[in-house]
Amino acid sequence: MFCLGIESTAHTFACSVIKFSAHEKFPNILSDVRDTFKAPDGSGIHPREAARHHASVAIEVLKQSLASSKIKYKDLDIVAYSAGPGLGPCLRIGAVIARSISSFYDIKLIPINHALGHIELGMSLTGGQDSLVLLVSGGHTMILVFNSKRWRVIGETLDITLGQLLDQFGRYLGLASPCGSEIESLATKSSNNYISLPYSIKGNDVTFSGLLSAAKRLISTNKYSNEDICYSIQETAFAMITEAVERALSATEKKELLVVGGVSANKKLSDMLKLACFRHKVKFNSCPVSFAGDNGVQIAWTGILSYLKSKNFVDISKSFVNQSWRVDSVDVLWRN
Ligand code: AMP
Ligand code: MG
Repeated sequence: MFCLGIESTAHTFACSVIKFSAHEKFPNILSDVRDTFKAPDGSGIHPREAARHHASVAIEVLKQSLASSKIKYKDLDIVAYSAGPGLGPCLRIGAVIARSISSFYDIKLIPINHALGHIELGMSLTGGQDSLVLLVSGGHTMILVFNSKRWRVIGETLDITLGQLLDQFGRYLGLASPCGSEIESLATKSSNNYISLPYSIKGNDVTFSGLLSAAKRLISTNKYSNEDICYSIQETAFAMITEAVERALSATEKKELLVVGGVSANKKLSDMLKLACFRHKVKFNSCPVSFAGDNGVQIAWTGILSYLKSKNFVDISKSFVNQSWRVDSVDVLWRN
């Protein structure tokens, strides 16, 4: 069975083909092609411009994905696309392409929740069984646990996401978005001079907007280096997330933690979470860095799982995009 996965929720347009044979636990990835929209330095993703980017690269990304997987359109069994949450104009590009392939070649069409894609690919690649999941990306900051056929959110950001904190601060410094990895490298050049910043955690929930405003104010004082401010943002924000995760581990008594999403590529965050897991005698799993950010593999793999167990393919007339589609509204029938 072959599934084409199309990802287009935000800055990345990506296509992947996965081959699946019965009893395979791990995705057999035949292709993984991505093209990311680059906003001008200091600016964020403008949804219409990102969508224009996706429309201009889509055919080439698709062609490359099919060519490197050495299959033809007619060999595909499923076309899965990211249907949300995400930026409306970007989502529509992926959906239009998926619908066109599905209708022309008469292939089953499956809308996939993007957050579920991050989680399910991470679970499969790390062999996770019963993990507490931390999803930290541009669009999400959530702590989740699987219960009664759904990934339930037991902690989340009450305002901006961890990725937005890093990207918005980075843009304020004039960096190119997404800025997380550049902030990480600036932080490693700091002399570890910690500057106190607002630390805000409410139960298992966190808030980052006060931290962002305070960090921006530090710049205008001209008293601190960018390296020290980046170091302090990371220390504060990651300590908040780690505390929320520790609370959730204590409450759920889970024995595994899985961290997924673009920000999971950050070494400092991993180190802090690893230490927390060590303290709680919990196994630490992290999505491999090459699949941490948005990609088509997560959509193709979740498409296969959905097809096999949920049979939730849709008629083109019923296919949709939903900018605010919550992961905890999706039934996950392949998990116990
Ligand atoms: P995603 O939405 O899953 O593609 O993740 C994108 C987010 O991950 C953006 O906010 C990036 O700034 C962030 N990101 C990527 N690499 C890193 C890193 N090394 N450290 C922190 N954040 C990162
Ligand atoms: Mg994402």
